[in-house]
Amino acid sequence: MPWPSAAALLAPLAPWFDRVRRDLPWRAQNLDAPHTDPYAVLVSELMLQQTQVATVTPYFVRWMDRFPTPAALAAASEDTVHKTWEGLGYYRRARFLQTAAASVAAEGWPNDLAGLAGLPGLGPYTAAAVGAIAFQWPTPALDGNAFRVLARLVRIEGDPRLEAANLRDWLTPALVEHGPSRLTQALMELGATLCLPNPACAACPLADACRAFQEGCTASIPPPAKRTPVQKVDLWLVALETEGRFLLREPASRGLLAGLWRWPALPAEDLPAMAPAPTGQVAWPGWTQVYTHRREAVSPIYLRLDHSFPAPEGLRWVPRADLPALPLGKRDQRLRDLLDTPGQIPLQTPGLTALIQAMGSTGW
Ligand code: SF4
Repeated sequence: MPWPSAAALLAPLAPWFDRVRRDLPWRAQNLDAPHTDPYAVLVSELMLQQTQVATVTPYFVRWMDRFPTPAALAAASEDTVHKTWEGLGYYRRARFLQTAAASVAAEGWPNDLAGLAGLPGLGPYTAAAVGAIAFQWPTPALDGNAFRVLARLVRIEGDPRLEAANLRDWLTPALVEHGPSRLTQALMELGATLCLPNPACAACPLADACRAFQEGCTASIPPPAKRTPVQKVDLWLVALETEGRFLLREPASRGLLAGLWRWPALPAEDLPAMAPAPTGQVAWPGWTQVYTHRREAVSPIYLRLDHSFPAPEGLRWVPRADLPALPLGKRDQRLRDLLDTPGQIPLQTPGLTALIQAMGSTGW
C-alpha cells in the first residue's frame, strides 16, 4: 500500500466541507460531537441507499414526524410503515429499518461496529457510516462514491473494491485526525457533487494532490463496472372492478415487493390469442417502468364486470374506498392515480370474459 498519508492528502477536504456543506434535516450542526439523534442518522442512511438526497429529504421529514423514535417505529403497523415509505422504492429498507428500530428500542444502541453491522439491513458500508456520523467512531464507510474518489486520489487502476481492506486501514488515521463524522460526510459530499463519473476537478479541493487528475487519467478510474443485462417485459396492468371493489394481489411476506399490494399484471406474451390492439382498448397511454435490472413496458387497463366471482388464491377484492390507504409500489400507484382522474370509463369489450378466464389460468 504505497500511498501517501491519508491524513495529509485529505486535509483540504474538511475545511472545504465546512464551507460548502448543505443544510440537511438529518445533519448535525456540531460535527465534532456524537450526533444527538443516532436514529435520525440511521433513517437517513437507509433512505439514502440507492436514492438521491432531493428525493429523500421530504420522506425523511415525514418519517421523523410520524415515527420520531425507534420505539414509535417499532410499534407501528407494517401497512403504516410501508405507506409512509410509499414511492421511495426498495421497500426492503423500510422493513429492515423497522426491525432494526425494534432491536434498538428493546436493547439500546450497539456499542461497536460489529453490533451495528448485526442490525437488519445494515451492510458494512451503512454500519460504518452510522458509526462515524452518529457515534464519531473512526469506521471508514466505503460506498461507490468513496471508492471512486479514493481510487482517483491515489490512482488505483483496477477495481478499487478489491483494495477495500487496505483503503479502510489507510483511511482510519485520517478519520481520527479530521473527525469521523466530518470527514465521512465530506467524502460523501465530494463524491456526490464534484468527483462524479465525469468529475469537476477545477473546483475540487483535492486537485493538487489527486494523482488521477494530475496524470490525466480520471476517465479510466475506476474502470467501468460490468453491467447486468436488463430484462425487458411488456405487460398489462389490470384494474378490474366489480360491485365497487377492485381485485388486487395481496402483499407477499418476502422478497423485493414484500408488504406491498399490487394490481394483477399479465405478461403480454402470455396472452397472444386475445391481446387487444394497443389503441381503442387500452384505457390510458402506457409508460416504461424502469427498475435496476428490469424495464417494463406497462399498458394500464381498467375493466369492469357486472358480476363478481371468488378472488383467486393470493388475490383479494378491495373496496374502492380502501385503495388510498394501501401501500403500493411506484408502478401500481400510477394506475391507482389514473383511476382517480375524472372521466375514466372502464372497458366493456367482447373479449372481456376470455380475458378474465385467461388471467385466472395464468395464475395472475
Ligand atoms: S481532482 Fe477530480 S478526480 Fe481528483 S478527487 Fe477531485 S474531482 Fe475527483
